[in-house]
Amino acid sequence: MKYSSCATVIAYIGLGSNLAEPVAQIKAARTAIASITGVRELAFSSLYHSLPMGPQDQPDYVNAVMSISTDLSPLDLLHSLQHIENNQGRVRKGERWGARTLDLDILIYGDQEIDLPDLTVPHIGLDERSFVLYPLFEIAPQLFVPGKGPIAELVAKCPLSGLRRMD
Ligand code: ATP
Ligand code: MG
Ligand code: MG
Repeated sequence: MKYSSCATVIAYIGLGSNLAEPVAQIKAARTAIASITGVRELAFSSLYHSLPMGPQDQPDYVNAVMSISTDLSPLDLLHSLQHIENNQGRVRKGERWGARTLDLDILIYGDQEIDLPDLTVPHIGLDERSFVLYPLFEIAPQLFVPGKGPIAELVAKCPLSGLRRMD
């Protein structure tokens, strides 16, 4: 039964967009995630403006983090999120970290550390990405990131790198 969920867990999802009205994309994704059967929204961070990772010839990003309670398994949650990405026009061109209408990543799933071919949790790079750590800290300042440590310590070590909170 490893990696399956038989109870309700709290999970954190990272949202990002830099194409086709990013603020509207993030808001639409929030509604869509909260509408997944087996998911309930707990909290939603402010919106943040961030600079692109990887290829620089793309627009800046809008990011946010959402906490949910869910009784979906990690893989069922991933597939539901990918369905929402596709519905909102996500096109995968094979370029890593290229521009996208919507990116939905599972940052944390309860206290689980998951290492499957299609799913790594906590999300890879979480502790190096200001656009993930700062919104996560905003909604869960007491969080312990499995395998990594208290969110406050991770934030303290992570420069803003151009991140700013939007009004
Ligand atoms: P990054 O994962 O570095 O943020 P990305 O979000 O742009 O990059 P995607 O193209 O959205 O990458 O996803 C590539 C693959 O990552 C997906 O097919 C998915 O199976 C896998 N993946 C692994 N772990 C996760 C996770 N925690 N959340 C979402 N996708 C994940
Ligand atoms: Mg991502
Ligand atoms: Mg992704």
